Amino acid sequence: MNNILKKKYITTNDIIVEPNDILKEKSSNVNLPLSKEDKQLLRLMYNHVANSQDEDYAKKYHIRAAVGIAAIQVGIKKRLIAIKTKSENHSMRLALANPIITYKSEQMCYLNPGEGCLSVEEGKYHGIVPRHFHIKVEAYNLLSNSKVLIEARGFDAIVLQHEIDHLDGILYIDRINKLDPDYKKEDWISI
Ligand SMILES: [Zn+2]
Repeated sequence: MNNILKKKYITTNDIIVEPNDILKEKSSNVNLPLSKEDKQLLRLMYNHVANSQDEDYAKKYHIRAAVGIAAIQVGIKKRLIAIKTKSENHSMRLALANPIITYKSEQMCYLNPGEGCLSVEEGKYHGIVPRHFHIKVEAYNLLSNSKVLIEARGFDAIVLQHEIDHLDGILYIDRINKLDPDYKKEDWISI
């Protein structure tokens, strides 16, 4: 059993920060139904994201605010991600196993002023990260205890692509144009 499962909470010290080759590794699918350990890990991950959005908690425990986390960021190469986002009219709460992107729009978008990641030092990189504006994802969601088909646009779609990228060993900084970090096409939507 991994050490992280002996903990009640994920702490800042548990999070792997780049450069670290582990972050470049591909994660493996987990068996369904989820094992007790995988459920526990997903809950730890989801709680970390939710707690990080509580200003007092985040301050007290010195954790950075986040909208998502992937298991590889705590060193576990399993296709598990947790996400909590909130926008004006809706919120997205996900603790997913084996997410697969089944649809990607041709329309691209990017987060303005740029993406962030618990595994990347704040302010170290700058640049535009191209993402599909509209995606569909199939996965098992622990929070609803069911297989789900998620349709996401804009910010939610960006967060899902960012977290699923982690499972394939890709960081957002890998998607920034090396020659021109500010490169974007005219029709890309700024989010
Ligand atoms: Zn990240």
